[in-house]
Amino acid sequence: MEKDSVLEMRHIYKTFPGVKALDDVTFCVKPGSVHALCGENGAGKSTLMKVLAGIYKQEAGDILLEGKKVQITDALDAMEKGIAMIHQELNYYPDMTVEANLYIARENTYFAGIVNRKENLRQVHSILSEYGIELNPNARMRELTIAKQQMVEIAKALSTNAKIIILDEPTVGLDPAQMIEIRSLIRDLGKTHTVILSSHILSEVQTVCDRVLIIAHGRLVAQGTPEE
Ligand code: ADP
Ligand code: MG
Repeated sequence: MEKDSVLEMRHIYKTFPGVKALDDVTFCVKPGSVHALCGENGAGKSTLMKVLAGIYKQEAGDILLEGKKVQITDALDAMEKGIAMIHQELNYYPDMTVEANLYIARENTYFAGIVNRKENLRQVHSILSEYGIELNPNARMRELTIAKQQMVEIAKALSTNAKIIILDEPTVGLDPAQMIEIRSLIRDLGKTHTVILSSHILSEVQTVCDRVLIIAHGRLVAQGTPEE
């Protein structure tokens, strides 16, 4: 085991009919850092992230959290283990408010009827202010910019006590102002959480990330600091 690792993925394999999406991927992630996963379209970035987030099951290979081998059975299990993924296709409820979308993450307590709405709202406010996320809790999701919608997803992840936050190409399709907004939030997140984001924008990787993993045709071909 590597020292101080938050996460290790060892010899991960995942195939789809006719495609080796992940072919013996091994890497280790240190705490409180932003890791970039880089590679061309179809390289295997989303597949790797989805294996980690419990959406796909690897055919072979081990996942270790803080040095302990774990089985991640599904997305809920990943969440319980402190792993949250923000997908490229955001799945929010467009007509619901920001506040309601944040509560969705906590629906277990909600439907158990023991929800403490005031306490929830207090937590949401404290998360938003801690990260300087400016969001009107009463705004409808569809009225927000993509960057703000992503921030709701990030706030949701934080409210579930995620330790590892996975972002799949968070800046694709954003205008420059929104990119700046999201990147600055990602940098802040990296101070307290482990962040893994996929990206193919070199300048983004250089300004936001501490470590870079490069993946091609399902294989990890290089890793190092952005300078390297
Ligand atoms: P990236 O996110 O780097 O663009 P993906 O992980 O989405 O790459 O895809 C890796 C490879 O696996 C590609 O060849 C893609 O076509 C294939 N693939 C991804 N998801 C599926 C799926 N659900 N069914 C079949 N093939 C898939
Ligand atoms: Mg992808």
